[in-house]
Amino acid sequence: MSCYVVRVDAQTPNSDAILRAARILQSGGLVAFPTETVYGLGANALDPEAVGRIFTAKGRPAQNPIIVHVATTDDAKKLASAWPDQAELLANHFWPGPLTLVLPKQACVPDLVTAGGPTVALRIPAHPVALALLRACGLPVAAPSANRSTELSPTCAEHVLNSLTDQIDLLLDGGQTTGGLESTVLDLAADRPRLLRPGLVTVAALEALLGPIDHVRHENAEPLRSPGQMRRHYAPQTPLEITMHSRERVEELCTQGLRVGWLNHLDEGEAGAVRVVLPADAIGYSAGLYAALHQLDAVELDRIVVEMPPGGDDWMAVRDRLQRAAQE
Ligand code: AMP
Ligand code: MG
Repeated sequence: MSCYVVRVDAQTPNSDAILRAARILQSGGLVAFPTETVYGLGANALDPEAVGRIFTAKGRPAQNPIIVHVATTDDAKKLASAWPDQAELLANHFWPGPLTLVLPKQACVPDLVTAGGPTVALRIPAHPVALALLRACGLPVAAPSANRSTELSPTCAEHVLNSLTDQIDLLLDGGQTTGGLESTVLDLAADRPRLLRPGLVTVAALEALLGPIDHVRHENAEPLRSPGQMRRHYAPQTPLEITMHSRERVEELCTQGLRVGWLNHLDEGEAGAVRVVLPADAIGYSAGLYAALHQLDAVELDRIVVEMPPGGDDWMAVRDRLQRAAQE
């Protein structure tokens, strides 16, 4: 099977391209499309066979549930068997946007989408192409990131093609995504709101509306407490380490004769490594992180050394992804 690539304007996508993609979704096919976070690999969320093709294409473990994307809050409510006041508040405030809400599922949501669990993860993406596609197909669209499982998420069409070419029916190429990291995932099906995955919507922003929320920690070796909380994920092929004094570490590894990539948000000179300097603010760093890791991964290095990003709430998603990328 070959993959059609159709270029679309990110702000005002061509309606023929959107209609063609919508028809593919309606007939059980796979469409890769840009969202404001990363590129997604979408299928009709109500069709288990179509969703099964996502798992096959990605090599995704069956215990990892998939986020369902919808066009409106009313569409989200049709897939949830409970819609607490907190969901209404958050949806009004953050949708469309990079916040995924986990809620008890309706029976119509296939088990494959939820990894057999009683909850479904829902969001309205804030990207004109994604929204146009959702409206045109009239379906909820299950869409994980458009890459092989555990690998780096794609933030442009080229990343998607490098990872998945043969299994996609159509790729809508809307250029670079702006956010660059996956959505924040918040569980509203437990007694208290619980952060399952940090993302572009910060904990401070959630707590300003909800009061204190619980966190699920990924950094330690505890057993998995929620589906999809994989420790190694979002990872380049090249071994990656995070360190406080990256310049010294880079010099040490270079002296040993290793080929080293150096990812930093502080401009500290050359040190003999292939160097990428990202912006020193969390939003700019997030937007460029995966592209930088894709770039370093393509150079065939022995090691990628990353300067420890700052502490603080707005850097939480960046630290989470880097920590998971550093897992062996
Ligand atoms: P991705 O594969 O990047 O789209 O990430 C999807 C993530 O959403 C998973 O890793 C889970 O953490 C989370 N998720 C999706 N569906 C559910 C669900 N029903 N319950 C809990 N977490 C979910
Ligand atoms: Mg993913």
